[in-house]
Amino acid sequence: MFPERCSVRADGRDCPMPPEFVISVKSKDGEYMVGVTCDNHKKMFSDKLESLQKEGKVPQGSIHFAELKPVGTSCIKIDPNDLIQL
Ligand SMILES: [Zn+2]
Repeated sequence: MFPERCSVRADGRDCPMPPEFVISVKSKDGEYMVGVTCDNHKKMFSDKLESLQKEGKVPQGSIHFAELKPVGTSCIKIDPNDLIQL
């Protein structure tokens, strides 16, 4: 199960955006899921992760983003079947 919200906390507030990417670190021991992030915080998250790696708080390795498929309803998403009905 993935969290329903972006894992980023900015200015003391949790980001209310739904997550769009799963962030993981691929190290020689395996892959570690670190968190999820919205598109806006993607860069911020990877910068933070790099500094945590330098501090040794997160396993060393390359940072990967995997797109999270949207869950639930979204009015932006276009269903091809709806287009056919038009
Ligand atoms: Zn966010």
